[in-house]
Amino acid sequence: MDIRIGNGYDVHRFAENRELWLCGVKVDHTLGLLGHSDADVAIHALCDALLGALSLRDIGYHFPDTDPAYKGADSRVLLARVVEMIHQRGYEISNADITIIAQRPKLLPYIPQMIDTLASIMHIASDRISVKATTSERLGFTGREEGIAAQASALLIHP
Ligand code: MG
Repeated sequence: MDIRIGNGYDVHRFAENRELWLCGVKVDHTLGLLGHSDADVAIHALCDALLGALSLRDIGYHFPDTDPAYKGADSRVLLARVVEMIHQRGYEISNADITIIAQRPKLLPYIPQMIDTLASIMHIASDRISVKATTSERLGFTGREEGIAAQASALLIHP
């Protein structure tokens, strides 16, 4: 059996007149995240963890932000493509653990829906996905509410 681990990290800045999407779920907030795609920072970190586990470069390599095809892209579709790449290579996703670092909004009420959304895209049980939210105690760019950061780890198994 081959076991592979990967980690991912991403940041997007807040902007006005944008929707806030995190882990494939639309979150109510006065600001959204700026990006070429829907700027779902949590899915981007997760994609990088999954790609990293198989040494498949990163999300920007596969879905460049200079490519008009990915303008406004739904990150759930990008995640589905990454999961496909993993399955094509004979690997299964064992589990993934995501941390979202945001001062606001409060993400607690959205966590169950985020987990279910990711589990369904990744074709794994919900108890194999963890989504956690933390603040940075008002320190740094997340603490000043300039943006949101996310990090993720993923474990892949080749049976
Ligand atoms: Mg990103």
